[in-house]
Amino acid sequence: MISIKTSREIDLMSIAGLITYDTFKYLEDFIKPGITTNKLNDLAKSYIISRGATPAFENYNDFPTAICISVNEQVVHGVPNNYKLKDGDIISLDIGVCYKGYYGDSAWTYPVGKIDEDKKYLLKHTENSLYEGLKQIKPGNRIGDISSSIEEYAKKHNLGIVKELVGHGIGSSLHESPDIPNYGNPNIGPILKPGMVLAIEPMLTFGDEDIFLEEDDWTISTCDKSPSAHFEHTVVVTKDGYNILTKR
Ligand code: MG
Ligand code: MG
Repeated sequence: MISIKTSREIDLMSIAGLITYDTFKYLEDFIKPGITTNKLNDLAKSYIISRGATPAFENYNDFPTAICISVNEQVVHGVPNNYKLKDGDIISLDIGVCYKGYYGDSAWTYPVGKIDEDKKYLLKHTENSLYEGLKQIKPGNRIGDISSSIEEYAKKHNLGIVKELVGHGIGSSLHESPDIPNYGNPNIGPILKPGMVLAIEPMLTFGDEDIFLEEDDWTISTCDKSPSAHFEHTVVVTKDGYNILTKR
């Protein structure tokens, strides 16, 4: 069952989404060689709280920190620590915010200093794959249309698709029905309707797509150590398309 949000709920999710977006904008100035991922986490946490919201990931399934930060070959769920960012790294920030009981969820991968051409290619085309998926969002289309568009774009650009992790519905819970894989056939799955709110989040790799769980029991990394990128927006289905809630 996919919930249809009321206009009041969408208003609250718009605020949650905006705070999420503003947290990224706030952090961008700090993403430089030398800063630790712990420091970025602390800045995010205090910023989110200063906006009257709470960091959604902290304590979610016992996750230990406010946001997820995944560096280079780490795909998702990286736990901020004492690692100091280096010139040439890429970092994926995944930020969830809860405002008055409603959630926003977004992820973005950033270059640290000057990155190589392979990483530039990965970032550009993973971001594009997100927008390819979003283009399919309108009433009457199906979840599979989003999935297949992301897959088609990723394959065309020779990028690996992490298949074990998926996008999702979102609302008064961080993760709601339906699952939204980043691969699959068009024309299958639930039909999109106005008022549904979805988090679309392709996770692509520059090399092989196989992943493993690191010893910290949280961080998911590529087996071949190839870099990975993650771009996510929370969007609401409207009567003729969609609006991105995690963007100004
Ligand atoms: Mg997320
Ligand atoms: Mg998500």
